[in-house]
Amino acid sequence: MLAVLGCLAAPVNAWWGQGHGILTEGALLALPEEVPTFFREGGKVTANVVRDADLFKNRGTPMLNHAEHGEHYFNLEYLQGAEIPTERYDFIELCLKLGLNPKRVGTAPYAIAEWTERLAVAFAEHRKSRDNAVVQLKCLVYAGFVAHYAEDICQPLHATVHFNGRKQADGTVVGKGIHERVDSSLQRLGLTPADLAAGQEVTGMDSLMGGIVEQIEESNGLVDEVYALLGKWEDGENQEVHALAEERARTAVQFTASLYLTAWRRSESIRLPRWLQR
Ligand SMILES: [Zn+2]
Repeated sequence: MLAVLGCLAAPVNAWWGQGHGILTEGALLALPEEVPTFFREGGKVTANVVRDADLFKNRGTPMLNHAEHGEHYFNLEYLQGAEIPTERYDFIELCLKLGLNPKRVGTAPYAIAEWTERLAVAFAEHRKSRDNAVVQLKCLVYAGFVAHYAEDICQPLHATVHFNGRKQADGTVVGKGIHERVDSSLQRLGLTPADLAAGQEVTGMDSLMGGIVEQIEESNGLVDEVYALLGKWEDGENQEVHALAEERARTAVQFTASLYLTAWRRSESIRLPRWLQR
C-alpha cells in the first residue's frame, strides 16, 4: 500500500509559500539575548535566503534538483516504526535493509541537522573574530537554510506519505490538492514576525537529532487533524483552520529558534583548526 501512495505526484510548490520569510524573522526575534545581536537583527538576510532551497528545485539545474527534493520532507510511515537513525548514511543503510528508496522516504532530518551544525561552525568562527562582517554574513546565510528545512517539517503534510491526498480502502484518493491549501493558510493568518515571536519559550536541545525526531513525530501526529479539515482550508474565517495553522506557525518559529540557540551553544566547544586565518 505504501508503494502505491508513494506514486502520487511529488509536491512542486513551496511549503509555506511566502510564509517562510515571516516564520524566519519571527525565529530570530524570538531568540534570547545570549545569541549575538548581529544575528538576532539579521532578519533581512536570513528571510531572503530562506527561500533558496526551493529555488534549487529547478529543471535548469538537474543534478541539484535531483539531490534537493528529498531534503524537504520525511515520509515517516515508510520506516514502519523503525527508529530514525542519527546519521545520514546509517539512514541510507536502513533504507536498503527495508527495501526503501531513500529519496522516496526523504532526508529532511539530515538536512536540518547538518545545516544546524554548519551554522554552529560559523558561530565558532564568529567567536574567534567577532567583528568580521563576512563571518557574520555567513552565519545569517546558513541560518536561512536551517530555517527552510526546519519550517518545512513543521507542516504536517511534510512529515507523512499522505502529503497530498489520502488513499481510501476502496482505492479512491481524497484530499488531492490539500497541501497547497495548507501551505498558503499561513499567509491568510495575517500574523507578523513579532506576533509569532511573542511569548515564545526558546530552549536549546540536549540532543540535536532527538529534538528533530520529536518534531517530525509531532508534525506527523497532526495529519489526521489536517485531513479532518478537508474543504475548510481555503476558508480564512474558519476557527479550527485558524487555530491549527497558527499553532503550526508558532511551532515552526519555536523549533527554528531552538535550532539556532542549539547551534550557538554548541559553537562554544567547537575547536577550529590552527590553519584558519581570516
Ligand atoms: Zn521546502
